[in-house]
Amino acid sequence: MIQRITVLGATGSIGQQTLDVVARHPDRYEIFALTASTRWERLAEQCLATGARFAALTDEQAAEKLRNHLRDAGSDTEVLAGADALSQLAAHEQADTVVAAIVGAAGVRPTLAAVRAAKRVLLANKEALVVTGALFMDAVRDSGATLLPLDSEHNAIFQCLPQEGVNAGVERLLLTASGGPFREFTAEQLQAVTPAQAVKHPNWDMGPKISVDSATLMNKGLEFIEACWLFGVSPNQIDVVVHPQSVVHSMVAYRDGSVLAQMGTPDMRTPIACGLSWPERVESGAQRLDFSQLAGLNFELPDTSRFPCLALARNAMETGGTATAVLNAANEEAVAAFLAGRLDFMGIPAVVEQTLAKQHAPGCVDVEAVMDIDRQARELACRLIKERRC
Ligand code: NAD
Ligand code: MG
Repeated sequence: MIQRITVLGATGSIGQQTLDVVARHPDRYEIFALTASTRWERLAEQCLATGARFAALTDEQAAEKLRNHLRDAGSDTEVLAGADALSQLAAHEQADTVVAAIVGAAGVRPTLAAVRAAKRVLLANKEALVVTGALFMDAVRDSGATLLPLDSEHNAIFQCLPQEGVNAGVERLLLTASGGPFREFTAEQLQAVTPAQAVKHPNWDMGPKISVDSATLMNKGLEFIEACWLFGVSPNQIDVVVHPQSVVHSMVAYRDGSVLAQMGTPDMRTPIACGLSWPERVESGAQRLDFSQLAGLNFELPDTSRFPCLALARNAMETGGTATAVLNAANEEAVAAFLAGRLDFMGIPAVVEQTLAKQHAPGCVDVEAVMDIDRQARELACRLIKERRC
C-alpha cells in the first residue's frame, strides 16, 4: 500500500532531501501535505512537482501568494495558512507518515499533533523532544505512534540496538560528533569566529541553525538529551566521541564487549530512507562508502572547556524538569543573535549558561506550561544578549 506522507519543514535541508528520496519510489510513497514558514516560491515548486493534496505556510501573506500562484498554474493543491494549520495537517486522518523537519521549538505543537494522532513519525526536529521530553515520550506511548529517529546518530543507534523486547544487555551508547568546523581552533581563535565560517560545516550540508549548533557542539548536547529520551537511558550511559570523518554515525556497546557501529557516507538521505522504509530498505541515492578511499578513522574525546555547550546540555538533562527547555530556548535566541551579528560566538554558551542560572525551571505537567517556560527563557536570554552588547 502507498504510504501517504506529510512533510513539516518541507523547504529546509531535511525536507528537500526527504522529497528527493520519496521521488525515487513513486510506487511506495506519495506526498500528502507540505508545510513551511515563509518560503512560498520553493513550496510552490515542491507542490507542483509532487502534486501534494495540501500545503500550509505559517505566514498568512506568503500563503496568499502561494494560493494565487498555484491557482494560476492549474494546481489542485489546497493552501492553508497559520501555525494551527500545520498541526491540523500533521494529524490529518489521510496521512500515514509525518516527517518532523521544522527547526526549533516551533516544531513542538505540530510534531506532538502527529504523535497524538498515532502517525508514523520520522523525527528530525530534535528540539521538539528536548523541549517536551517526558511529555513527548508519554504521548508516544499513550497514542501508540511509531517514532523513528532521522537524526543520523540516533538513526544509527536505532539500527544497532536489538529488536524491541529482546533483553540483549546494552551497556552504553556512543554518540559520535564530527567536532564541527572549529574542532582545532584555540580558545582565542574561537572568540573571533564569524557567522559565515560557522555555517560552513566540513561534512554535512544543513540549515543555518543546526550548522551553528554543530560549531558550538550544542548540536551534540541536544542530541545527548534526545538520545536519553528516545532510548530510555540515563545520562551516565552515554559517551560522546569526536570522530571528524563522520563515517561512523554512532555505536552501541554491549555487555559482552561487542560494539556495533552503523557506517556510511555523510548523507541524510540514508537515515531518511531508513525511516521511510523500516523495517525494509530502499535506495536512498546516497553515495556508497568506499573503504579503499578512506584515509583513516579517528576518534578523540570532546574538549568541553573550549566547547562548553556540551557540558551545559548534559547538566540540564541531569537537572531534569524544564531545564532542557530553558537551555534550548536560550540557545535558539543566542544562535539567532549570533547569525544576525548581535552576539559573538563565545557569547552563545555564555548566554545559555546565564539563562539557565537565572531562569526557574520547574517540572511541567503539560505542553502549555512548558511553552510558557520557553517564552520566559527567551525573554531573559534576549535581555542578556542586549546587556552583553552594552
Ligand atoms: P532548515 O533551516 O534548512 O529548514 C527548516 C524548515 O523549518 C523550513 O522548511 C522552514 O520553513 C521551517 N520552519 C522554520 N521556522 C518555522 C516556524 N516557526 N514554523 C513552521 N515552520 C518553520 O533546517 P534543517 O537543517 O532542515 O533542520 C531541520 C531539523 O532537523 C532541525 O531540528 C535540525 O536540528 C534537524 N536535523 C537536521 C539535519 C540536517 O542535516 N540538516 C540533520 C539532523 C537533524
Ligand atoms: Mg545529528
